[in-house]
Amino acid sequence: MFVNRFEGSETRGMTDPLPVPEHDVVVVGGGAAALSGALALGRSLRSVLVLDAGEPRNAPAAHAHNYLGREGVPPRELLAIGRAEVEQYGVEVVAARVAEVRRDGDPDSPDPHGTGFTVATEDGRTVRARRVLVATGLVDVLPDVPGLAARWGRDVLHCPYCHGWEVRGQRVVVLATGPMATHQALLFGQLTEHVVVVVADPAAHPAEADLERLAARGIAVLDDPPLEVLTTDDALSGVRLASGELLACDAVVVSPRVEAQAGFLAPLGLGAEPFAPGGVELGTALPADPMGATAVPGLWAAGNVTDPMAQVIASAAAGLRVGAMINADLVEEETRAAVAARRALA
Ligand SMILES: Cc1cc2nc3c(=O)[nH]c(=O)nc-3n(C[C@H](O)[C@H](O)[C@H](O)COP(=O)(O)OP(=O)(O)OC[C@H]3O[C@@H](n4cnc5c(N)ncnc54)[C@H](O)[C@@H]3O)c2cc1C
Repeated sequence: MFVNRFEGSETRGMTDPLPVPEHDVVVVGGGAAALSGALALGRSLRSVLVLDAGEPRNAPAAHAHNYLGREGVPPRELLAIGRAEVEQYGVEVVAARVAEVRRDGDPDSPDPHGTGFTVATEDGRTVRARRVLVATGLVDVLPDVPGLAARWGRDVLHCPYCHGWEVRGQRVVVLATGPMATHQALLFGQLTEHVVVVVADPAAHPAEADLERLAARGIAVLDDPPLEVLTTDDALSGVRLASGELLACDAVVVSPRVEAQAGFLAPLGLGAEPFAPGGVELGTALPADPMGATAVPGLWAAGNVTDPMAQVIASAAAGLRVGAMINADLVEEETRAAVAARRALA
């Protein structure tokens, strides 16, 4: 005779002494990282609410590249597919911008997870969750050159892997506004022979050693600051320089400052900190460990908000990893509670 070991008296529902917030997990953000985390959690039978302001970082670009299996997909199309996929598993996706996240209960409680979080949206709605996944991405702060912002993600570019193939063989101007200019010029030099560096900020002037490296690769450096990015027939056509020269080109490469979108975590005493890989300050990021845990127990982070260098597929991978960590964290909490309940009955 078979013994049914799957219908014991100690199922999770019967011994659950936890407060029951409305959701196991609220995911803040709805890009690749957020939806991938929500997918792992939804498939783990977690109740998940995704709150998304709907402005993914790569939205200005017509296509997203290097996402294997969906190469060249329009960014919003990829996310629409992702939303449909998570909704199959009961995940709710709501358009909302989160204004703040607060800890419920006593922050000094010996239980490191307290009793969860209250998440408030800008339009005044609140929801409670046992865990929060922050996947809000970052904002690219562009150099202040007239005409530049309007072309961002189209022919004002930052990343040779996102857009480089599209400008292969074309005339590319790299604006030196920070420490990445030489690196960018060399990488775009792999894709086209026609690269010129224009020094926009004297503080960002390539050092002697970099000037030698650039010269060796045939890349000229102009000490002539940009005054305006020019457009002809809805396409970038050149850069007007301080000397009056009109430098004809097909694309301009910049290195925006990256600013993590984490201001809504201030009530938790958590926020973005300087992001300086190799000592080079490039912006801010929300600190988290490699598994996505932040300094606030129960609050996790994935994607560009904590890893500004992650591309779409890496952000999705991080979301999956952190979603799995959150589920495991919840399972551990539920198991501790079940053990305590079992002992109480003994
Ligand atoms: C112009 C451009 C082109 C790019 N092209 C490529 C490419 O071709 N291939 C590639 O791999 N990578 C590309 N990238 C990088 C890519 O954009 C990022 O890797 C990716 O968007 C990171 O995903 P994410 O989920 O972390 O953040 P995002 O995609 O930025 O998603 C964050 C989401 O959180 C929302 N949000 C923010 N704050 C709140 C809040 N308070 N409440 C609720 N929601 C909030 C945002 O509105 C957004 O919907 C490009 C980047 C740029 C700037």
